[in-house]
Amino acid sequence: MSVAQASTGQLKDAIGARVDALRPELERIGHDIHANPEIGYEERRAVAWLTELLKKHGFSVDVGIANTPTAFVATRRNGTGPTVAFLSEYDALRGLGHGCGHNLIATASAGAGIALADALDRTPGRVLVIGTPAEEGGGGKIRLIRAGIFQEVDAAMMFHPDTRTQVLHWALAVTHMHFEFIGRAAHASGDPEKGINALDAFVLAYNGISLLRQQVKDGARLHGFLKEGGTAPNIIPERTSGEFLVRARDQAYMEELVQKVKNIFQAAALATGCSLKLTFDEEPYVDLRNNGVLARLFEENLRRVGLDPVEGVPWENAGSTDMGNVSHVVPALHPTLSIASADVAGHSQAFLEASGSPRGYQAMADAAKALAMTGADLLADPSLVEQAKVEFRRT
Ligand SMILES: [Zn+2]
Ligand SMILES: [Zn+2]
Repeated sequence: MSVAQASTGQLKDAIGARVDALRPELERIGHDIHANPEIGYEERRAVAWLTELLKKHGFSVDVGIANTPTAFVATRRNGTGPTVAFLSEYDALRGLGHGCGHNLIATASAGAGIALADALDRTPGRVLVIGTPAEEGGGGKIRLIRAGIFQEVDAAMMFHPDTRTQVLHWALAVTHMHFEFIGRAAHASGDPEKGINALDAFVLAYNGISLLRQQVKDGARLHGFLKEGGTAPNIIPERTSGEFLVRARDQAYMEELVQKVKNIFQAAALATGCSLKLTFDEEPYVDLRNNGVLARLFEENLRRVGLDPVEGVPWENAGSTDMGNVSHVVPALHPTLSIASADVAGHSQAFLEASGSPRGYQAMADAAKALAMTGADLLADPSLVEQAKVEFRRT
């Protein structure tokens, strides 16, 4: 073992001990976020708790970046060296609370940032904790990319809770669409011929999308829900509205599918005589690029904290994330750590409970350690940053 390796080993031991010491504070904030779910762009309390913690540990904090009140960047630096960013998500799911475990992401990234920043006297560089709102729709990270927040970032990292501990992660490109059919109300028994049925339009569109599903490439996903379906059984529904997501393994094919789904909605409007309004979230999420250099370092560090990751099956059980967009801008890492047994579904009551469980907080602490240690690898040996960038440019 070289002297450099030995000292990096000592540094990592110190980082592990630092996260253990921080754990009560991290858990308390994790519990508070879990117990007070806030949906995308409304995460005011989560941001207040996290930024208060980061300030207490010497970070300078800028809240409300990118014209977004619940986005922040917290910075600590010492001398010149690479810039490592840990991304903190904290939004909840509409109607389900923290059924995606973002309370654990929030505190793992804050803990990783503090533990690594406390080691900056030994390895100069800059540590950022970036607060990225609205991952579950809304695309907070896309706003931050547009505002230039990632321009000086050399590596962006976070973890996501899951049922598997896995270093590589695959995420689909996704477009979020909102539809509205407007027809005409009429007495459903007395004057049916005077009505235009907006629920019929939705049923046609829904069936059209269901049929399309049989003719799509592997991995594509089309799903949505009806928000307004009418007001009374004796009134022909005048208005229906809802949302659909169109997902695929790459952006180009996703856009092809979006056009087909648009055609289906237009056909349903034409067939029923309804008018149609389709709107789209600002910018789609794109697929996630795994950076192999960061992944290899993280895997070693996971083993160092005593975890044994499984080999991932590409695209298995894939969702989407705006971390995908970040991964097209800078070298990125988005591994998963297990917090629940394999039979538990994401976005479910059981996953919500796991996100507030002792096992969940253990994964949060393990993730904070392995993320901070990966940051330490990069700060201690900037040639690794260069390698990550070479791979980023190659893929
Ligand atoms: Zn989710
Ligand atoms: Zn999530």
